[in-house]
Amino acid sequence: MSAFASVKGFVSSFMLTELFKGMALTGKYMFKSKITIQFPEEKTPLSPRFRGLHALRRYENGEERCIACNLCEAICPALAITIESEMREDGSRRTTRYDIDLHKCIFCGMCEEACPVDAIVETHILEYHGEKRSDLYFTKDMLLAIGDRYEAEIAANLAADAKYR
Ligand code: SF4
Ligand code: SF4
Repeated sequence: MSAFASVKGFVSSFMLTELFKGMALTGKYMFKSKITIQFPEEKTPLSPRFRGLHALRRYENGEERCIACNLCEAICPALAITIESEMREDGSRRTTRYDIDLHKCIFCGMCEEACPVDAIVETHILEYHGEKRSDLYFTKDMLLAIGDRYEAEIAANLAADAKYR
């Protein structure tokens, strides 16, 4: 370090230049509108296209929407979906197993895009966690339960996004 730089550094330290620069920066932002929020009490708005926890939906009569076409399973880039199905006596086809391994899922939304009957969707739910591996392995019953609970919100988001799909 040159003698000039040493002297400059000493004077700067002596005059508390860095401290005043920091205080000036704090003062500059003190009266500006805040961009931070008090999560989880406060939440930022989410897009209708937000891709959170998955759900399986039913029709109003309680029938499952999913027709076991396997498109979501085929398109899933993470191979996170596992489906098994069987034919009912009336000739319709329904899943006997529909699992999503959220450890593998990358929340790309392609399963939702591929579904011809809006059966598999991604909800606004983002506050969930697992404490062991099996906690994030969602079965058909679990996915249907989420769909049943949040159907009104899911339907509203799909309706809001419909004109852009
Ligand atoms: S969001 Fe993407 S990665 Fe996750 S299950 Fe659907 S298709 Fe697979
Ligand atoms: S969720 Fe949709 S895409 Fe997947 S198997 Fe069922 S009907 Fe087909």
